[in-house]
Amino acid sequence: AVVCRDVMKFYGETPVLRNVSLTVKTGETLVIIGPSGSGKTTLIRCINHLEKIQQGTIHVGGNLIGYRLKNGRLIEDSEKNIALLRRRIGMVFQRFNLFPHMTALENVMQAPVSVLHQDKPQAERRAMELLARVGLGDKLTHYPSQLSGGQQQRVAIARALAMNPEVMLFDEPTSALDPEMVGEVLSVMQGLASQGMTMIVVTHEMEFARNVADRVVIMDCGEIIEQGPPQKIFTSPDNPRTRIFLNKVL
Ligand code: ATP
Repeated sequence: AVVCRDVMKFYGETPVLRNVSLTVKTGETLVIIGPSGSGKTTLIRCINHLEKIQQGTIHVGGNLIGYRLKNGRLIEDSEKNIALLRRRIGMVFQRFNLFPHMTALENVMQAPVSVLHQDKPQAERRAMELLARVGLGDKLTHYPSQLSGGQQQRVAIARALAMNPEVMLFDEPTSALDPEMVGEVLSVMQGLASQGMTMIVVTHEMEFARNVADRVVIMDCGEIIEQGPPQKIFTSPDNPRTRIFLNKVL
């Protein structure tokens, strides 16, 4: 469903992604871990075209994301096509980014109504279903300020799901939460994974990586240094740099 090939990304002269190649199959949950500054967030922001890449290709659902190859060179796609592609990618950020003046229900309905032009009753039914699915069926008319951080993050997940995305990207979705709220968000994500959603998750939650990932990817200094099933990565990693990283965080 998502294929990155030889992706290079620079900030100025500094390479932050170096020849990153990665394939995420439909229905797979991929968890990206690695030291701070290793390029994890940058990689998923590139997949969602929030950042531009300088070399390589990224396909989402068979479409080249935001770029065309012409005579071997990357040509940037039109804003319109980029927007069309981005609709098919759900993204959940560290901060919840809900609209403060809208209720939970209105937040979830907003994009389907204004972007996909769904009729309101249909969007509302679907939003109610999604909010129930993330355990917030009783908070439909609450405003973000009336919800805890964990509840707001679950609304953000429901809002991303409302667009029926091909893949869900999570960028450290629990790092801004109080510790007691981390579990409720991770369990919603675990539910999505078990229902077959294609997911790429950047996280520092090693238990989640161990228990939920189909595959774990380790990044260091802008490179993928190792990837494999969690039982392998967490018990007998091949790369000594993976061992050093895991020794620090486990
Ligand atoms: P963390 O776990 O701390 O969130 P990360 O692995 O997600 O780290 P990135 O946020 O992707 O790492 O950052 C990768 C590198 O790119 C870092 O060295 C960072 O300082 C640099 N970087 C990130 N954003 C920018 C920017 N907008 N301009 C310049 N450099 C940046």
